[in-house]
Amino acid sequence: MVSYDDNNIFAKILRGDIPNDTVFEDDHVLAFRDISAQAPVHILVIPKGKYVSVSDFGAAAGAEEVTAFWRAVSNIAEDQGLSEGGFRIIANSGLNSGQEVPHFHVHILGGRALGPMLRSSEAA
Ligand code: AMP
Repeated sequence: MVSYDDNNIFAKILRGDIPNDTVFEDDHVLAFRDISAQAPVHILVIPKGKYVSVSDFGAAAGAEEVTAFWRAVSNIAEDQGLSEGGFRIIANSGLNSGQEVPHFHVHILGGRALGPMLRSSEAA
């Protein structure tokens, strides 16, 4: 497992070194708008704990953190008015996914029809 890098951009956001457009925060979770939105609503949800990926989070986070995280994801989607029309969540994990920031995060995307899940020239 890749070790956690304290200098990743989301660690800096959690420390308050870099500003963010917060939509939700509690003891375990921070959610903020993606700086490069790919949809009318594009929110990143991150745990406050130091987890590199969804695999790391699933293996090492406590039950309270896991519950708080996934409850926040669904509550934010509801609060943003996405539940009725539908939305997508994405969690990139590791090299093949193109994960850019090595702090576990879920993208919540919605506010328009999002098209096919994957658009790639490579066949499965
Ligand atoms: P991923 O490729 O899944 O690691 O996604 C990382 C996401 O973080 C990208 O969608 C970026 O646009 C977003 N991002 C990078 N820096 C910031 C920042 N300072 N504030 C908000 N979002 C950011």
